[in-house]
Amino acid sequence: MMDDLTQLPGVGPSIAEKLKEAGYTDFMKIATASIGELTEIDGISEKAAAKIIEAARELCNLGFKKASEVLEQRKNVWWLSTGSKNLDSILGGGLESQSVTEFAGAFGSGKTQIAHQACVNLQCPERIVAEDKVKEDILDNPKAVYIDTEGTFRPERIIQMAEAIGLDGKKVLENILVARAFNTDMQILYAENVEKLIQEGENIRLVVIDSLTSHFRNEYVGRGMLAERQQKLGRHMATLNKLADLYNCVILVTNQVSSRPDAIFGPSEQAIGGNIVGHAATFRIFLKKAKGDKRIAKLYDSPHLPDAEATFRITDKGVHD
Ligand code: ADP
Ligand code: MG
Repeated sequence: MMDDLTQLPGVGPSIAEKLKEAGYTDFMKIATASIGELTEIDGISEKAAAKIIEAARELCNLGFKKASEVLEQRKNVWWLSTGSKNLDSILGGGLESQSVTEFAGAFGSGKTQIAHQACVNLQCPERIVAEDKVKEDILDNPKAVYIDTEGTFRPERIIQMAEAIGLDGKKVLENILVARAFNTDMQILYAENVEKLIQEGENIRLVVIDSLTSHFRNEYVGRGMLAERQQKLGRHMATLNKLADLYNCVILVTNQVSSRPDAIFGPSEQAIGGNIVGHAATFRIFLKKAKGDKRIAKLYDSPHLPDAEATFRITDKGVHD
């Protein structure tokens, strides 16, 4: 995907080169950039950035799409199994591409296990549902990116889950790119860099952020910082949605919960991040520990699926019914 950027107003060969160096290799990337992002490039003023973005949007036909075109893009949607048919079923077939799916729950509820299992399942063709042509693209050496903010990624667990379904554990590990993020800035940067990996030719099909909110919660403490936190989190979510949309990826984020001790009505726990995360995630699932290895997953707030519950298990074999 390389476009002739000099077709854009005010973009000569040298600005075009700078744009490309900064990762803006085609019209679509420019069309979905913000003015602030483009002005970070030397020689592009705010006014020029606005013009460039507008022209790129026209060239990509961005703005309104015909419903038939939306349907065309939706044809490329595919589903990655969670490992549990029950859970896949309430999600409408599994973890859906072109969307962000959020798993929220208390410590030990199984969020990290689900994230590990998704990385393993990406290497298992039987656990991917897509039209033939789409599936062929996905199966072309697919890779997962795992952005680990809590230091809980465990390659040993990946091997264990992989071998439980007859995969070569070591091979699966080769196809998971792990990054440990120690603060929100690193987390955001890693997410933004996924696009670079894709441009370099990696077939990234799954992006995990485990956990989406832990650093945000720790770094932005107190009421005075809430607005700033939410703004930054909102931009991060926009990056993730953009990845999902442009590259037909599955995006899986985990989220902690905080208690609502004052709750009289409604749940006594809620996901961190409020509306910002709520609006940016297409699928939201609440996980709860039940008896033994059982877990209860509750889908809520989905724009096109009814609220529903499913039971699954987490054992040494991984996530399954
Ligand atoms: P969190 O929601 O905090 O991310 P985890 O996904 O880490 O929670 O879930 C941890 C739980 O998963 C453990 O308490 C245990 O029940 C289960 N679990 C983790 N690893 C294994 C394993 N190898 N065998 C069986 N159960 C496991
Ligand atoms: Mg965890």
